[in-house]
Amino acid sequence: MSSGTVPAKGRILLVEDEPSLVLTLTDRLVSEGYEVESATDGEIGQQRAVSDPFDLILLDVMLPGKDGFDVCRDLRRLGVETPILMLTARSQVVDKVVGLKLGADDYLTKPFDMMELLARIESLLRRGQRGGAASSGGYAFGKVRIDFRKAEVIADGQPIDLSALEYKLLRYFVDHRGVVLSRDQLLDEVWGYDTEVYTRTVDVHIAALRQKLEPNPTKPEFIVTVWGRGYKFLG
Ligand code: CA
Repeated sequence: MSSGTVPAKGRILLVEDEPSLVLTLTDRLVSEGYEVESATDGEIGQQRAVSDPFDLILLDVMLPGKDGFDVCRDLRRLGVETPILMLTARSQVVDKVVGLKLGADDYLTKPFDMMELLARIESLLRRGQRGGAASSGGYAFGKVRIDFRKAEVIADGQPIDLSALEYKLLRYFVDHRGVVLSRDQLLDEVWGYDTEVYTRTVDVHIAALRQKLEPNPTKPEFIVTVWGRGYKFLG
């Protein structure tokens, strides 16, 4: 396979033990211009991630040797800051939150849509290139600056008072910049999958965020509505 002088869009380490998925994902990612290496075992995957520089790690949860959560936690402990996108089975929905607490950047539930995976990958890589939201601790758009380390949001030089939920929502938007997010997805990811809230709640909180962050809340530039589908952050 010769890619000539065209540089790869990024190097991805795929840690996954299901041969058919390794094959499908590798094929697709390579055709999208990524360089892909794979490991089918948690321990080996971890060694590769430590010894080789990658732009992104796709990490399955259920792995022989060492599971994805342990690999993720240990990589962070070892100072590896490569973005990690975890792949979890639907039955492991409770584990999602655990994955993020261990330092994963995002996760996707199997079976996933290939376009969704590609969008998440691009979003994570872009974050890395821009200095990163979570990795560098800061993010800026328009006149707004977010300091993720201090959990502070400043607009036009003035500190903005966000509720915990608004902050979480904003952070989720930043982490999924350019990706269309449905109300259901936002409810699942930001509010938590077992809370009894209505999709209308999402609209109310987004209106509040716009009020606080958008130069003209009635004509949002950053948190935009995608009719019939949800919202998208363009900061
Ligand atoms: Ca597996």
